[in-house]
This record gives sequence, structure tokens and C-alpha cells, in this order.
Amino acid sequence: MTALTVIVPLFNERESLPELKRRLFEALDNPALPESFGEHTGFEVIMVDDGSTDGSADLVREMITERPEIRLISFRRNYGKTAALSAGFRAASGEMVITMDADLQDDPGEFRPLLMKLREGYDMVSGWKLERKDPLSKTLPSKLFNSSTRLFSGIPLHDFNCGLKAYRRRLVASLDLHGEMHRYIPVIAHWNGYRVTEMPVRHHPRKYGKSKFGAARFFAGLFDFLSVMFITRYLRRPMHFFGMMGLGSFMTGLLISLYVTLDKLMNHRPVSNRPILFLGILLIILGVQLFSTGLLGEMLSTRPARSAGYAVRETANLDEEIVRKLEV
Ligand code: UDP
Ligand code: MG
Repeated sequence: MTALTVIVPLFNERESLPELKRRLFEALDNPALPESFGEHTGFEVIMVDDGSTDGSADLVREMITERPEIRLISFRRNYGKTAALSAGFRAASGEMVITMDADLQDDPGEFRPLLMKLREGYDMVSGWKLERKDPLSKTLPSKLFNSSTRLFSGIPLHDFNCGLKAYRRRLVASLDLHGEMHRYIPVIAHWNGYRVTEMPVRHHPRKYGKSKFGAARFFAGLFDFLSVMFITRYLRRPMHFFGMMGLGSFMTGLLISLYVTLDKLMNHRPVSNRPILFLGILLIILGVQLFSTGLLGEMLSTRPARSAGYAVRETANLDEEIVRKLEV
């Protein structure tokens, strides 16, 4: 088995690629690196072109002729960073997996310390951009994101969304990502019982091009957080979530209706002009609906899930069997 797979998601990063390749292989060819590999040997680099329109894929294909360790997955359209990482995870054959950004902000010089830390017995080592080289418009919202995620998830990480992270294969194989969930990988991993830690890493300013994430990411991030909470806590028991709410609503509605009925029978108060009657009816209907949603969820969750694939334009240097796993 290959010791290490490096996954690089890239979207219109053509200018950065030559320097990225140089720095990447400087670290990977370093004779000190195999010491961090454990019993396995060798590495591969999976470049996932997320629908670039600037010819990034052509450049990667050229790079393969010089470095056969490079593999290419190229999407037909821009699916987003989560999808790019997810495809990389599915194609990875390494015992340990490292993800890094293509924009030269992450430093391959950190590979060795990350892997050494991983081998101390962790399933995931997340990079921590201690001295972050980004404009305030990125660092400020990011502080907010990190502190709220820390608060709600209860995981004491400083930097959830660093592009540079190292994983054990078993953790990566268990992930089923969608939306913009790459930000919450540490949360998902932690909730599933994997050992997660972080380590300060060097960070560089963006040299070419510009950031691919705008203000829209905050809203998407909020919804993804909700689904992560639901998935990690209730996915395998939807009835606990919907059933409890449904039962509460139904019982309250039932009590109200009972009260209105008894009041009519014993005190002869008319039913028709009482607003509380409507509340009672509403709560009963709502209760039944929530309950059946839980029941449907329960039926769905007992079926094995099949995760969606991606429209792949081309791949290079990858086994056919792996390619089949990626496609729609
Ligand atoms: N990226 C991607 N698909 C996207 C957006 C970004 O594959 O839709 C890649 C991008 O090319 C880069 C990494 O994800 O390699 C991080 O993106 P970026 O540097 O723009 O994020 P930032 O560092 O500004 O948070
Ligand atoms: Mg960047």
C-alpha cells in the first residue's frame, strides 16, 4: 500500500501550479520524509481540477509526464472545494492522506511534522494558521466562524478550516461529504469518535489570482452547520428528533381539545368562538406531521446510502476501477 496521498483541490490556479509542483516535490523527495511513513512506502499526488477554465488541467497533464506520481481528476464543472476533496478521498490509495490548497498559501515543508504527529496515535491532525497571512476581510469572519463552531461543537480547535490537514485512511474512507462541509470535517470526525488534534503550521499570503470564496460562504456555512449537527447527532435515529417534538405537540393539542370539550359538556360554554380551539387543532396536525416525518426518516436511514458522483471530464494516471467510483 502507498504510504501517502497528497490531495490538491484546484480551481483556476494555473499561475500557481509550476511553483506548487516545485515546492511539493522538494518536500516529497526529501530523504527525511520516509521516516514518517511507518511500514509503507511511496507517495502519490492527486490534483483535483474543480472545473477550471484557465487550462489548469492541461498543465497538470503536462506535469504528469515529468512526475508519474501525479494523478489528475478533472470535473466538467465547478462543484466546489468539498466535492473536489471528496473525489480525492475516494481515489486516494495512501495509508495517510494530506490535503493542501493549490494557491501556495500552505507549506509542504509541514508534511513531515504533520505525519509525525499523526503517527502519535491521532486519526486527524488539522493545521492551525497561527500567523495568518490574509486580509482582515477574511480573518475577521473566520474568527467568528471558528469561535461559534468551537462553542457549538465543543471541540477545542482554533482553526477548523485550514486547507492543510493530515488524516488516517480509515477516517477519510468514512467521510460522506456534501454542501460546503469541508469546513466541518474536524467536527464530523470528532463526533464519530476519531481522535482529532491540531498543530500550528506556516502560512503564506496568496501570490497569484484571488480567493475563490466570497461573502455567500457565510450563509452556506450556517446551513451546513445545521446539517452537520443533525447528521452527527440524529442521522441514525431520526425518530428521536422528530418523534419527541411530534409527541410533545400532539399531546399539548390533545389536552387543549379535551379541555374545550369538557368545558362545553360541563359548563355549556360554546366551542365555536374560542381561539384556543384553533391552537389545539394546529398542534395536533403538526404533531402528526412531525411524527410521520420521523417515521419516514427512520425508514430511509435503515437503507444503505449511495453517495452521489460527479461528472468527470477526464482523468489521467488513475485506475479504471477508481474512476468508476467517482462518476455519476
Ligand atoms: N477551490 C476549489 N474549488 C472551489 C473553490 C476553491 O477547488 O470552488 C480550491 C482553490 O483552488 C484552492 C483551495 O480550494 O486551492 C482554497 O481556495 P482559496 O485559496 O480561494 O480559499 P481561501 O484561502 O481564500 O480561504
Ligand atoms: Mg487560499
